[in-house]
Amino acid sequence: MSTTKIEQNTVATVHYRGTLTESGNEFDNSYDREPLSFLVGFGQMIPGFEAALIGKSVDDAVTFELAPEDAYGQRDPDAVQEVPLSQLPDQIKPGDRLAAQAPDGNVIPLTVTAINEETATLDMNHELAGETLTFEVKVIEVRAATEEELSHGHVHGPGGHQH
Ligand code: ZN
Repeated sequence: MSTTKIEQNTVATVHYRGTLTESGNEFDNSYDREPLSFLVGFGQMIPGFEAALIGKSVDDAVTFELAPEDAYGQRDPDAVQEVPLSQLPDQIKPGDRLAAQAPDGNVIPLTVTAINEETATLDMNHELAGETLTFEVKVIEVRAATEEELSHGHVHGPGGHQH
């Protein structure tokens, strides 16, 4: 049994369940798939998630609440835009997810929130922006990251990059 604690430059493997604090609705759950592995201290996770796990070790279970600023941020009203329907795929409807390519090549996910007469309302906010989130996390494994992982900035092997 390892007694390694989660800290900068470790690889943490966890199972988690995420719910919206206000409604209790579950938005994500790792228990029906492989546990999540991440390299600690490289900004791979939302800030509060990582911070709440620092110092924990295998078999620790922790439940914590994250305000929007420690999770996906506040909703940005400027990230909601009206786009002419003529510039969009046919037959889109509210709730559809689209992807736009930014000038720097990054893909920006968009949610169609309304279809108007000549435009659609598109929301670039993360779907969890503005939400306070509750996470129940169980630590499955903690190990030191390898030199190679640290130089790549991501986890290798199960739950990580396979290369
Ligand atoms: Zn790599």
